[in-house]
Amino acid sequence: MKFYIETYGCQMNIYDSEIICSILLKSGFIKTSNLKKADIILLNTCAIREKPEKKIFNRFLKIRCLKQTNKQIKIGILGCLATHYKKQTLEKINFIDLIVGPDSYNQLPKMINNLKKEQNKKEIDVSLANQEKYTKIIPIGVRTSISAFISIMRGCDNMCTFCIVPFSRGREKSRNPNSILKECKILYKKGYKEIILLGQNVDSYFFKQIKFFKLLELIAITVPLMRIRFLTSYPSNISKNLLEIVNKHSNICKHFHIPLQSGSTRILSLMRRKYTVEEFLLIIKMIKQIIPDCSISSDLMTGFCTETQEDHRETIRIMNIIKFNFSYMFKYSSRQGTYAYRKLKDDVPNILKIRRLNEILMLQKSHSFYRLKENIGKIQNVLIEGISKKDDKYYYGRNYKNDIIVFPKTKSKIGSYNRVQILNATFTTLIGERILSEI
Ligand code: SAM
Repeated sequence: MKFYIETYGCQMNIYDSEIICSILLKSGFIKTSNLKKADIILLNTCAIREKPEKKIFNRFLKIRCLKQTNKQIKIGILGCLATHYKKQTLEKINFIDLIVGPDSYNQLPKMINNLKKEQNKKEIDVSLANQEKYTKIIPIGVRTSISAFISIMRGCDNMCTFCIVPFSRGREKSRNPNSILKECKILYKKGYKEIILLGQNVDSYFFKQIKFFKLLELIAITVPLMRIRFLTSYPSNISKNLLEIVNKHSNICKHFHIPLQSGSTRILSLMRRKYTVEEFLLIIKMIKQIIPDCSISSDLMTGFCTETQEDHRETIRIMNIIKFNFSYMFKYSSRQGTYAYRKLKDDVPNILKIRRLNEILMLQKSHSFYRLKENIGKIQNVLIEGISKKDDKYYYGRNYKNDIIVFPKTKSKIGSYNRVQILNATFTTLIGERILSEI
């Protein structure tokens, strides 16, 4: 039986698709990249914001047409949308045969086989677990052969008023460190050069007295020749211990992704974030003191409930102080089931949300350029990830801060580390040239 999978949303979902592929392949299913040749089509979905959700439902409407020519074909919705809308909404959509939440992928082979046995049957499992369910599964890479994701914790306990993650992915559960270390070693043996540790809040990782900084150190020592990245960090969980470990180990990248969300303490409090703007600035100061050349990226949101022009100006003021290396920026969309949806008024007109979003997008562009230019003249270790899509005479790769660098192709192989002198910067990319032999 052939399956086809499409993935929407964050890195966590990409990793989950790798887990799903692993589970299905192990049970004898065959993966196809041709939608029309599939017996079962799976969409691994994201429900964080309204925009991606609309995109996914439009995609379903297109895929549905395939059922007109092939009645045997089955369609499944997996991931956050499945748990978010649960049975009541999705069950009513007649062309969806399979509804599976993020903690139930182990059941997929059995559920798909059940669908085959009985016509017009639906299979549904959207239960959420208290423990990590995939410790024994080695995901099958669908990304690059250089860099692999490893999920170290799932779910979230923070209950930010805007966010559906605690409802769609459940409460926090950290994974056994032994299984994480095992996965790191397997990836290293397979030839991967970089691992990216994933979690909604990696820095709240906690498993039998082992905190995130300890886990990070264990990984850095276990696979000393691999680069280690991690995201996302919750601001108030960043500790001195963690910064010292990041600074100490040369194979841990000097980059923190720390969502600020808003530059107004009033809005942060309405969002139920656990820090004020002043505290966030102190965290940035502490990072820069311990790791001076550290890159810092963030998530920002415009138009949250009651956001005034003054609150928005505060966000701009804080952005100007910090000058993030890059940011993911969104306009707020009210999500069913959250506290904000139930109790707060989504009262900022859409046009204003968009105008404010465009303002911060423009500002961030100038800050990213400013931060990239700081690298000019420096010599950096660049891990080659592939051939530049814009010009096949160039390689592209990343430095330890997560900046993308292109440089003229040499005899160096993809996956090797190269010393590159940074010569110039565009708004998004550094341009360099290789200066010494492979490292
Ligand atoms: N763990 C992260 C944190 O510290 O908040 C949240 C990760 S969430 C999956 C990614 C980002 O999506 C958030 O940081 C936030 O900026 C954005 N986001 C979440 N809910 C949103 C909503 N209802 N509307 C717009 N953006 C939202």
